[in-house]
Amino acid sequence: MTEPAIAEPIMTDPQIAIPTREPSPTVLDDTVMPFEVAKLDLRGRVVRLGPAVDEILSRHAYPQPVAKLLGEALVLTVMLGTSLKIDGRFILQTQSDGPVRMLVVDFIAPDKVRACARFDKDRVAAAIAAGETAGTALLGKGNLAMTIDQGPDMNRYQGLVALDGNSLEDVAHEYFLRSEQIPTRVRLAVAEELSAASGGATHRWRAGGIMLQFLPKSPERARAADLDPGDAPEGTTPHAVKEDDAWVEGQALISTVEDIELIDPSLSSERLVYRLFHEPGVRVFRANPLRAECSCSRDNVEAMLKSFSQDDRDHMVEDGKISVTCEFCSANYQFAPGEVGTNPS
Ligand SMILES: [Zn+2]
Repeated sequence: MTEPAIAEPIMTDPQIAIPTREPSPTVLDDTVMPFEVAKLDLRGRVVRLGPAVDEILSRHAYPQPVAKLLGEALVLTVMLGTSLKIDGRFILQTQSDGPVRMLVVDFIAPDKVRACARFDKDRVAAAIAAGETAGTALLGKGNLAMTIDQGPDMNRYQGLVALDGNSLEDVAHEYFLRSEQIPTRVRLAVAEELSAASGGATHRWRAGGIMLQFLPKSPERARAADLDPGDAPEGTTPHAVKEDDAWVEGQALISTVEDIELIDPSLSSERLVYRLFHEPGVRVFRANPLRAECSCSRDNVEAMLKSFSQDDRDHMVEDGKISVTCEFCSANYQFAPGEVGTNPS
């Protein structure tokens, strides 16, 4: 398998002229909408998550900053996962030494997503009390891996980046700079929406994001200005590359996007990109729907248990049964020890 180009959006045929029309005011939650700004050689996608992110984060009921971090990872994962032409999984996973040891977001093409976190309750509480929860502070030092898994017959592709940014946005930028070498900017936002209801205020999670990439036809134009010049002999002037004007303009425009614009339930993805790019002109493509759905099943759990040694299974028996709870969706599966087999030996 060749390395898939993360940047290449799945699009309807761009050769077909789409008549210009007003951007739709209708907000479509739980979607990823690709767009193109042909005049500036920019492509991107807008992620809007409503019920899907609320279902995942509400069910886990993690401490608020942990939920927010997982929500950002969720947006980033679906942003990248939906841009891959894969039949399989795209997994984003962090492993680090901070109060939050691990985040896992699992995107199953074409439209399912699930996520969970592992963390130390006491250390998270201490970090909250000390006000040290901004950006990736809860993760600490470690790395973020992105894996494409297209089944047992295919090679797994993995990209790895160090967690040394101030935010998941910075980590994503580093990933694109080092691994993909495509000039990329992302914005991620997660918030709890409070609304007054008859039975009192209700909380609902919302999340959103936008990704912008510079993909000129001539690769020369995409060279990054900030790549390390390497071990040039002393006295050599570092090779400075001026950033392309189109990319400078693209970055300036995306830097104006406010968090509220990414999660506002009354601002559609179409209106958002129109607001940003109406001057050069923007074309939008069919949005991918998304839903929160776990892929666990009794059959899978049974197969996993059968793959364990008899000794391991014996250690799992409590009150005469083996009980397994899915970390993603909290579904509980129970088996009688005889049901998952005795080793033939
Ligand atoms: Zn599950």
